[in-house]
Amino acid sequence: MMRQLPVRLPSVADELLSSWICRHAAFYAVPPLVMLRHCLPEAFSLRAADLRLSNDQETRLGKMFATEPAMMRRMTFANLTQSAHRLVAAGRMQICTNCSPRHRGSAPTLRSQLLGWRITCPLCGIQLSNPDGGELPSPFRQYRGAALRGEKLLDDEAERGIVTWTSPIEIARLLLMRRIPRPIPCEHDLSRFRLLGAIIPDLDCIVAAEQQNLPTPAKPILPLYMRSALLAGIAMVERAGPEMLRMLRGHMMGENRVRFIQTTERMIAQGRRSNDWSQMQLI
Ligand SMILES: [Zn+2]
Repeated sequence: MMRQLPVRLPSVADELLSSWICRHAAFYAVPPLVMLRHCLPEAFSLRAADLRLSNDQETRLGKMFATEPAMMRRMTFANLTQSAHRLVAAGRMQICTNCSPRHRGSAPTLRSQLLGWRITCPLCGIQLSNPDGGELPSPFRQYRGAALRGEKLLDDEAERGIVTWTSPIEIARLLLMRRIPRPIPCEHDLSRFRLLGAIIPDLDCIVAAEQQNLPTPAKPILPLYMRSALLAGIAMVERAGPEMLRMLRGHMMGENRVRFIQTTERMIAQGRRSNDWSQMQLI
């Protein structure tokens, strides 16, 4: 039988489970994983606990912290669709200057600080900032309207399992696949050319100027100041519909193109089956 902790520290709004456990571990002077395993001996890591908790684990944690299991669940990413896990960063990517608690030393980590699709704070709605509080102006400000639409599309899918004619998370991955630019530049590194650059024309130049390569489809989290480009690209593809996915094939070659066609045709077929999008097109 799990006993509750003799001293419990209050959690802050939107705090992540691992952050709360780490603060208790510091208080009781034990390593964080020991703290977690005190309650869940089978736990693999703090990250794993943040990503997935069984009902039984929520109940046991709730007993230890003398709180509701549902509250434990809200401190994790357990509600996220599986495909959204790749959009959860391993560490703090951003902060809200309104909502992030000000602590000296180790500040609590908020759930929203790891969400790789957010450009605005889910609590108060303002623009997010870099973790050090410094602002890097986004070179993609002119896409802000589309980026906010893209943020909402990803948020609906990740947090609530709502998709439109296809999965916005899948679109994000597709847009980070490599493309072959025309004319083929005599240059060196072709890996910086991604499909997203076929939709957001300023992207290639900005990536080259920043000398910062974009992430791969496996971990589609862009730095905050670049993120609007991907979000806007997702919103544009979502709005334009399947024909845009087919148009993008023209930018690919070889095995990559084959993989892209297979994936997109599957997405388009599933979209037709799973909702009435095709009927809407006929009206
Ligand atoms: Zn906020």
